Amino acid sequence: MSSRFMPAAGTCRCGRIHFQIAAPPIITMACHCTGCQRMSASAFSLSAAIPSDAFAVTQGEPVIGGLHGEFRHFFCAYCMSWLFTRIPGDAFVNIRVAMLDDPSSFPPFIETYTSEKLPWATTPAVRSFERFPPIEAYEGLAKEYAIHVNAGAA
Ligand SMILES: [Zn+2]
Ligand SMILES: [Zn+2]
Repeated sequence: MSSRFMPAAGTCRCGRIHFQIAAPPIITMACHCTGCQRMSASAFSLSAAIPSDAFAVTQGEPVIGGLHGEFRHFFCAYCMSWLFTRIPGDAFVNIRVAMLDDPSSFPPFIETYTSEKLPWATTPAVRSFERFPPIEAYEGLAKEYAIHVNAGAA
């Protein structure tokens, strides 16, 4: 897989939290669910799934927010930016693409929860799902994403 954007750095709105990713995303996503709309204060959230061992908080101490459930949503305690989400199992971390220094490098490849999407919200996602794809579909989607990125479409 291409490593032309690596490593990439991200920061919250106030700059107290910094993180770094040292491997390319497994997949990139936009989520239209109403939970993401509320937490992002926008039409949809933007995520890149990064292998956990390639993700590091390099400055500051993020705190848990959102629903405080099994998906652990981390925020900056000062500016309250929504930074990343740790997934049950911890194989990967979903970082919020908008926090990266160069978010334009990671357009969403899939979009989820189009069933809850605002009527006017559109993304460049190649694959759309009414809810989340079944967990067993992600391996195939990640392969499609890798081919897509290596073909130069980013
Ligand atoms: Zn902050
Ligand atoms: Zn969502």
